[in-house]
Amino acid sequence: MELHFLGTGGGRYVTGMQKRKTGGIVMKSDETQIHIDPGPGALVNSHEILDSPEDTEAVLVSHGHGDHSNDAQPIIEMIVEAYNNAGVLLANRTVLEGFADIEKSVSDYHQGLCGSVETMKEDSTHEIKDIEIKCQEMFHSDPKTVGFTLETDEKKIGFWTDTEYSDELVDFYKDCDTLVVYCSRPEGASTSSHTALDEVPDIVEASEADTVILTHFGSKFLDEGVESQKEWIEDKIDAKVVMAEDGMKFPGNRTLDAF
Ligand SMILES: [Zn+2]
Repeated sequence: MELHFLGTGGGRYVTGMQKRKTGGIVMKSDETQIHIDPGPGALVNSHEILDSPEDTEAVLVSHGHGDHSNDAQPIIEMIVEAYNNAGVLLANRTVLEGFADIEKSVSDYHQGLCGSVETMKEDSTHEIKDIEIKCQEMFHSDPKTVGFTLETDEKKIGFWTDTEYSDELVDFYKDCDTLVVYCSRPEGASTSSHTALDEVPDIVEASEADTVILTHFGSKFLDEGVESQKEWIEDKIDAKVVMAEDGMKFPGNRTLDAF
């Protein structure tokens, strides 16, 4: 199982200025490849960075904000029209139907192109070939935002997506080998609706993950400096800390077992 970080930026400023790319993450298993949270640039990034964009068979979108969902439609067209894969779309309710003041981000036409469309919600489970997916609802300004775990025979990876911290959310990530945390804000800059570095130790401790990968950096985080933030968190936790970089492959050239 491999993760390819096409983009590691998040939030309106970083996205708008492309201080970091915003193409999301592609997970590759033995049997398939899925594209997670394809923000602006995801289609272009996937052709620049991936060895085999044609192997992508599914799109997974955690919520309806543009930095996660903008390129879902072009990625669906790539999967279905360009490469003739059946196409699976997993997304929260907001992405598929719209919710409150957020309009749907994948049109009925694009949903119709897909071989199957499933709604990710509290306690929902899904299967894409050898990957099992479990979801929970997070606490974010898109109230239907989902966090999820992706599990194969080999490993379990948790995705702590856009949310404010809550003790109620951490148990879901128990037994993950690796945790990917969308950490928008640096230490000392906690805010509602997003996760700051201060909250990462509690998330990691509860999960007992060996490795935590931080990504989805907002403007304040990048201004503070990624290296200083890494030093701060490494002092607080035993798990290996990886600060994601655009184009990064995890785990490098080795298999996850090497970590
Ligand atoms: Zn968001």
